[in-house]
Amino acid sequence: MEQARIGVFVCDCGLNIASTVDCGAVALAAEEMPDVACVVRNKYTCADPGQNEIKKAIAEHGLNRVVVASCSPRMHEPTFRNCVEEAGVNPYLMEMVNLREHCSWVHTNQKEAATRKAIDLVRAGVARAGLLEAQEEAQVPVTRAALVIGGGITGIQAALDLANGGHQVYLVEKEASIGGLMAKLDKTYPTMDCSI
Ligand code: SF4
Repeated sequence: MEQARIGVFVCDCGLNIASTVDCGAVALAAEEMPDVACVVRNKYTCADPGQNEIKKAIAEHGLNRVVVASCSPRMHEPTFRNCVEEAGVNPYLMEMVNLREHCSWVHTNQKEAATRKAIDLVRAGVARAGLLEAQEEAQVPVTRAALVIGGGITGIQAALDLANGGHQVYLVEKEASIGGLMAKLDKTYPTMDCSI
C-alpha cells in the first residue's frame, strides 16, 4: 500500500462546533498525528470556499487520504466524496469524523472534555483513513423480485408493501397456512374483529 498522506479538515460549523469544541486545539493536535501531511481549519467546510480549500490542499500537499472532521456522514458524505474525486482522489479514501452530533451538540458546557473527545475522534478517524483502500463502483443487473421468509403478520405486510411497489414477491411459510401467531388470536383490539 502507498504511504498515506492524510489531510485533516476541521470544521467550526459556524458556532455549532466551535462554541463547544476548541477547534484550534483539535487542529494543532491533528498536526502531530501519524501520516498527517496537512491540517486546515474552516468555518464552513461544506461551502464552496471550504471545498476549494480541500482541493487546493490535495494538489499542494499530494494528499492521498482526506479526513473531514465536521458533521454526520448522513449529511455531507456525498458532498465530500464528490469533492475529493474532483481533485483526483478516490472518493472512498475520504473519512468523516462527526464532531457535531457526536461531540459538540451532546457536550455543551463541557468545553474541555468535549475538546479532548474531539481530538480522540479525529485520532481514530486518521488511523482509519490510513487503512482505507480505493474502491471502484460497479453496476450489476437487479432482479426486481423479493423473497419474504415467514408468513406472519410482518411477513404478510412486507409482501403486500413490496407487491404494491411493483415487485414480484415470493412469500415462504413453513406452516400449512399463513397468519402466524396472529391467526391464533380470537379477537383483536380495538375493533374486536376476528384476527383473520
Ligand atoms: S460540513 Fe457539516 S459541520 Fe461543517 S459547516 Fe457544513 S454542515 Fe456544518
